[in-house]
Amino acid sequence: MSPDGSDPDGLGPDCLACGACCFAPNPGHLPLSGADHARLLPAEQATLVRFEGTRCFMRIRDGRCVNLREEGERWTCSIYERRPQVCRDYERGGDACSYDRERLGRSP
Ligand code: SF4
Ligand code: SF4
Repeated sequence: MSPDGSDPDGLGPDCLACGACCFAPNPGHLPLSGADHARLLPAEQATLVRFEGTRCFMRIRDGRCVNLREEGERWTCSIYERRPQVCRDYERGGDACSYDRERLGRSP
C-alpha cells in the first residue's frame, strides 16, 4: 500500500479501493526482518506474527494479511505506521502492483 493508502498525485491506482497486494497467495508472502518485528507493539508481536525457526512472517488468514481491514468499500492496514519493510518498498503502480491488481480482478 502507498504511504497513506490514497492517490495524492492522481497518477496511480487508488490503494483504498484496492488492497490487492495485501492478499497473500502463500503463508510465506510477508517476511519480517528483525527491525520489522521490533517496530511492532508487544501485543502485535504476540498475535500477528509466526516463526519458522528463526524466520518470522506476518500471519495470513483466509488468504490475506491479518492486518488488512475492509471498511465498506475501503481497504486499510491496521498497523500502517508499523508495517513491514516489504510493504513499504512495494511500488504503487509498479509491475507487481499491476500483477496483483489483475490477479484480484481490480479494474485497470
Ligand atoms: S496493489 Fe497497488 S493499488 Fe492495490 S493496494 Fe497495493 S499498491 Fe495500492
Ligand atoms: S502489513 Fe498492512 S500493508 Fe502490509 S500486507 Fe498487511 S495489510 Fe497490507
